[in-house]
Amino acid sequence: MQSDIEIANAAVLRPVREVAEETLSIAEEHLVPYGHHKAKVDIGYLSSLVDRPLGKLVLVTAISPTPPGEGKTTTTVGLTDALHGLGHRTVACLREPSMGPVFGMKGGAAGGGFSQVVPMSDINLHFTGDFAAIAAANNLLAALIDNHVHHGNELDIDVRSVTWKRVLDTNDRALREVVVAMGGHANGFPREDGFDIVVASELMAIFCLTESWGDLKRRIGDIVIGYTRAMVPVTARELGADGAMSVLLRDALAPNLVQTLGGAPAFVHGGPFANIAHGCSSVMATRAGLRLADIVVTEAGFGADLGAEKFVDIKCRKSGLRPDVAVVVATVRALKYHGGVALADLGTEDIGAVEAGMANLRRHLANIRNVYGIPAVVAVNRFPTDTDAEVARVVELVADEGVRAFPATHFADGGPGATALAEGVLATLAEPSPYEFSFTYDDDLPLTAKVEAIATRLYGAGQVTWEAKARRRLQRIEKDGFGGLPVCVAKTQYSFSTDPTSLGAPSGHELHVREVRLSAGAGFVVVVCGDMMTMPGLPRDPSAARIDLAEDGTIIGLS
Ligand code: ADP
Ligand code: MG
Repeated sequence: MQSDIEIANAAVLRPVREVAEETLSIAEEHLVPYGHHKAKVDIGYLSSLVDRPLGKLVLVTAISPTPPGEGKTTTTVGLTDALHGLGHRTVACLREPSMGPVFGMKGGAAGGGFSQVVPMSDINLHFTGDFAAIAAANNLLAALIDNHVHHGNELDIDVRSVTWKRVLDTNDRALREVVVAMGGHANGFPREDGFDIVVASELMAIFCLTESWGDLKRRIGDIVIGYTRAMVPVTARELGADGAMSVLLRDALAPNLVQTLGGAPAFVHGGPFANIAHGCSSVMATRAGLRLADIVVTEAGFGADLGAEKFVDIKCRKSGLRPDVAVVVATVRALKYHGGVALADLGTEDIGAVEAGMANLRRHLANIRNVYGIPAVVAVNRFPTDTDAEVARVVELVADEGVRAFPATHFADGGPGATALAEGVLATLAEPSPYEFSFTYDDDLPLTAKVEAIATRLYGAGQVTWEAKARRRLQRIEKDGFGGLPVCVAKTQYSFSTDPTSLGAPSGHELHVREVRLSAGAGFVVVVCGDMMTMPGLPRDPSAARIDLAEDGTIIGLS
C-alpha cells in the first residue's frame, strides 16, 4: 500500500471555494482564502448564523492508547466521509498538527491511508499560520513581563514566581530550562525561565475555548503570569498585554476549512495537548460546524478517560456544547496489548488476549455511558493483521455490554469502509438517549473533591494523595478565588493509573498529585500526576531525517 503522503499527493483536490459552497453553502465572499485549497471562514459571517439550529455532535474517542496506535483521527475522517457519502451534510472538526511530533516521533496528524484531510503536507507544516500567531502573542507577553521588570517593576512582580514561559513549535529539549537577561545592565534582570512547545501553552487552550473576539481578549486579560512579592496574582491585563495579544490572534481565530479525501468539508483549527490542556480543536470550529452542517464529527485526544473527560468537563461545561453520541475507537492490536501481549507478537491471532484486554474498553464504555451519560458505539479500526475471528470476538464482547461495535476499513477503503459504522451512528442519533448528560463533578465542589471524583469514578483509583507543595499551591489558588474552576488532570495516557505499564483496567491504585498549576485565562486548574513533558525532545532517529524536498518541489517522507 502507498504511504500516507503518497496517497495525499496523488489526490486531485477541488478548489476550497467549491467545497465550501457545495457542502456547506458558504458563499465565496465569506471565505478568506489561503491559496486554492485552504480558507478561513469569516468570523463576522459565522456570527450572523447564531439563530440557526445546531446539528448533532459526534465525539470520537478511544480506549487507552497503546504504542501501535488506535486511529482516532483516521476514524474521524473515515466516518465523516461515510456520512457525507450517505448524503448527510457532515463536517469533521480536527486539531491542527504540531510540528514537534511531525519532525519527532509520532509523525503528522491529518489521518491516514484513504481517510485523510488534505492538503496533507500544508496541514502538517505551517498551514495557515495559526500556531505562529499564538507563539507571537505568547512571546509578546513574555517580553512585556521582562520589560516591565526592567523599567522599574511598578507592579512589584516577584521574578522568581513568573510562570509564563516562552514557546515555539519545535521539539527542543535544550530550551526546557534557560536563564534569560544575561549580559549586564542593559539586558534586564537575569532570571530562570524555560520554553514550552506551543501546543502546551495556556494561550493555545484559551484560543480553543474562546467563543468570540471579546471573549478572547477577556480570557487573555485573565491570564495570571506570576505573583507580586506580597503574593498577589499579576494578570496580563495589568501589564496592558491583552489588547495587543488579541490583535495578533484576530485573524487566526477564524476556523480553517479544508477537505477530506472523500470530498467532505473539515475544520482543522487549534491543537492543545490533552494532558496540560484539554486536547480538543476549537469551540469556534465546533460551533461553526454545528450551525453549518447536520452532523459534526470531532475528536478528543488520548483515551476516553483523558480526552473525552476534558471534552465533557472543560469544553462542554464552558461552551454549553453537548455530544449526542461517542464513537469509541478500538483495535484488535490495542486490545491484545491491554490483554498482556508483547508489541512484537501483536500480529499473531490470540482470542484469549482480546478477551483479557476487553477490560480496558469495558471501563471506558461504562464511564462514557454511566458517568458522562452519552450513548456509545464502538468502531473497530481494522488493521491487516487482524483475523476475522478476533474481530468477531470484539463485536460479541462489546454486544455483551449492550453496545454495538462496527468493524471499519476506512484506512484502506476510504469512506465506503466506514458505511456500517456511519449507519450505526445514524441509528443511535435517531433514538432517544437512554442516558442523561452529566459532568463528572459539580463546579461548587472543592478542587480536591473534583480530583477525587475523576480518580475514583473514572480511573478506578482507591485514593488521591498530594505532595505537600501541591496542596499548598491548591490552597493558594482557592484563596485567590479560583476554586470554582474545573480541573485538568495531566497524567500518562497509557493507563487508568499513573503507571504507564499498568494496562487493562487497574483498580484501587493511588493517584499522586505532584504539582498544581493555574490556567486562569483558559479557566482550569492543571493537576499534574507523574511526569509531564511540556517541551518534548527529538528522538535518536527523528522523522526530520526522512522528510525531504524532491527536485520538482514534491514533499516526501511525511507520515
Ligand atoms: P490517533 O488520532 O488516535 O492518534 P491516528 O488516526 O493519527 O491516531 O493514527 C495513528 C497512526 O496509525 C497513523 O499513522 C495512521 O496512518 C495509522 N493508522 C490508523 N488506522 C490504521 C489502519 N486501520 N491501518 C493501518 N494504519 C492505520
Ligand atoms: Mg489524533
